[in-house]
Amino acid sequence: MSNIYNDINLFNELVEVLINEEVKNPVAERIDSDKLYETIDLSLNQSGMIDDEFKSVLKNVIISTPKTATNLFFNQLFGGRQGKAILGDLLAVLLNNSMYTYKVAGPQVGIEQEIIRQSCNLVGYGSNSNGTFPTGGSMSNYVALIMARDAKDSNCRHNGMSKPLIIYTSKESHYSNAKNASFAGIGRNNIRYIKADLEGRMVSAELEAQIKEDIKNGGIPTFVNATAGTTVLGAFDPIDEIAVITEKYNIWLHVDGAYCGSVIFSDKYKHLIKGVERSDSFSYNAHKMLGTPLTCSIILVNDKKQMHESFSNEADYLYQTDGDDFNLGKTSFQCGRRNDALKFWTLWKSVGAEGLEKIIDQQFELATVARDYVSTHKDYTLYSFDDSISICFNYKNIDPMLLCTTLYEHQITVVGFGSFNEDTFVRLVTINANNSKQDILNFFKVLEEFVENHSTLLNEKLVLGAEV
Ligand SMILES: *Cc1c(COP(=O)(O)O)cnc(C)c1O
Repeated sequence: MSNIYNDINLFNELVEVLINEEVKNPVAERIDSDKLYETIDLSLNQSGMIDDEFKSVLKNVIISTPKTATNLFFNQLFGGRQGKAILGDLLAVLLNNSMYTYKVAGPQVGIEQEIIRQSCNLVGYGSNSNGTFPTGGSMSNYVALIMARDAKDSNCRHNGMSKPLIIYTSKESHYSNAKNASFAGIGRNNIRYIKADLEGRMVSAELEAQIKEDIKNGGIPTFVNATAGTTVLGAFDPIDEIAVITEKYNIWLHVDGAYCGSVIFSDKYKHLIKGVERSDSFSYNAHKMLGTPLTCSIILVNDKKQMHESFSNEADYLYQTDGDDFNLGKTSFQCGRRNDALKFWTLWKSVGAEGLEKIIDQQFELATVARDYVSTHKDYTLYSFDDSISICFNYKNIDPMLLCTTLYEHQITVVGFGSFNEDTFVRLVTINANNSKQDILNFFKVLEEFVENHSTLLNEKLVLGAEV
C-alpha cells in the first residue's frame, strides 16, 4: 500500500499545477459534454496504473475542471478561496472523524458547538438555543420544516400526517421549499406562494390574508419561510413584519439565510435581517458569503427541545443530560456525519469575527462598484436593488442567455442569468471577497470587448435562435 507521504507530495505537486493553471487560464478550457469521455481518460479498469500515468490523468482532470476560485468566475452563490478554511478542511479529511459521538469526534464536537453558540449569540437567540450542521442549505430548510411540522402536530412522528398542514414562502424563495414540502409529507399543493413586492421581498399583508383564508377553510398554518437573500435578486424579506404575523397565529418562522444570512457578522449590514431573534430557526451557508469550501451549512434553533424531539431517535429521550450535549448524533439527520465545522472554525479562529465582517463588507462594496458601473454607463440596464450582492443587468439589449452562454463557450468569463417577473438578465454575483474593485471593472471590460469583437457572431446566433 502506498505511503501517505508520497500521496501528500503528489498532492502538493498538483496544487502547484492548479494554482499556475488558474493564473494562466482563469476560465478552464471547456470540453463539450458529448466529447467528455473521449477527451480525458475517466475510465475505470480492471488493472491499476503506474504512478506517472496516474499523475498525468490527474493533471488533465484538474486542468479541465471549471475554476471557481478565480477572478472571472461569477456564476454561482459561492466563489473564491479562503486559505485558512482550506487548511481546516484538509485537516478534517486527514482526521476523518464522524460527528455523531464525543467518543469518536472529541474536541471536534466542541469546535462545532462553539460555532453554533457564537452564531446563536449573533442572531440574538437565548440560552435554550442550539443547532447543527446539515448537508447544505436545502437540508437546513428541510430540518426546519420537520421541526415545524412536529411542533404543530406531534402525532406526525408516529402516525404520519393526519391534519391539513399549510406552509408559506415567497414566490422568490429557493426551490428546496417545494421539494421539502413533498419529502415532509405536507405536499407541494399545500405550499402557498406569497407575492413579492417590486424589489422581490415578501408582502407581509398578503401573507396574513392567505393565512386567514386557510384558517377559514380548515387548514392549519404551520410554517413560514422568510428568505434573507433571495436566490435571484438577493432581496431580504421583512422579518419583523412577518414575525408579528407568525407570533399572532402561532406559526413556526424559519429564516433561510443560506445566501446572505452571514450578514449577522457585519455591523453595517445586519440591519437587513432585523427581527431575526424572533424566529424559531435560522440557517446560513458559510460556503456562500464566508468563502469556506462546500458544504458548510448551519441551522440554529431557538429552542433546542424541538431539535431533540424531531431528530433524536429515542422515544424516552432524557432532555438536557451532559452526555447528549456532546453526542451530536442526537440532533442530526444523518448517522455518520462529515466534519463541516473545522474549516469554518480555522477561518474564524485565524481572522476573528472582525475578519469575517471584512469579508462580508467587501462583497457589498464590490456590489456597489458593479451597480454604480451599470447605472452610470449607457448601454446597460439595471434590474437589481441596493443592499444586494447580486447585480442584475442587461447590456445593449443582447439576449442574456445568449450572452452568458457565448461568454462561457469562449472561456471569457463564467456568469449566469436569472429572471424576476417579466425580465431576464445577467446576474453578476460579487461573492468572491478576494476580488478587488479592479477585478469587477475588468469583468465589464472583458464583456464589452467580447461583444465588440463578436457582434456578428452574437447576431447570427440570435437570428438562428429566433428561427428554431
Ligand atoms: C443556496 C441556497 C439554498 C440551498 O443551499 P444548498 O447548500 O445549495 O443546498 C437555499 N436557500 C437559498 C436562499 C439559497 O441561496
